[in-house]
Amino acid sequence: MTQPHRPDTSGFRPGETGDDVLDFVDDLLGSANPNPTRDGCLSLEEINEIANHKRPLNDPGWRHMQNCSPCYRELRAIRRTIEGQAFDPRIVQ
Ligand SMILES: [Zn+2]
Repeated sequence: MTQPHRPDTSGFRPGETGDDVLDFVDDLLGSANPNPTRDGCLSLEEINEIANHKRPLNDPGWRHMQNCSPCYRELRAIRRTIEGQAFDPRIVQ
């Protein structure tokens, strides 16, 4: 017996570029898990360590990022700052 077809409400469209997919995942993780009580949230120092890759990939903080949009958004903000600092416009010709 087959499952009845359910409409895809994810917003993902096949054929999108890799950047589009990453943006989609970024938006999804940044909004899908609001965690209004901030249950189990990490400190800013802990998020900074994750953003700066000072914690191993098996660190429980990474798992929390997948399940907590507020912490994920803080992580993304830190990463964007780091990536912005790494970009030196004087090098662009
Ligand atoms: Zn959190």
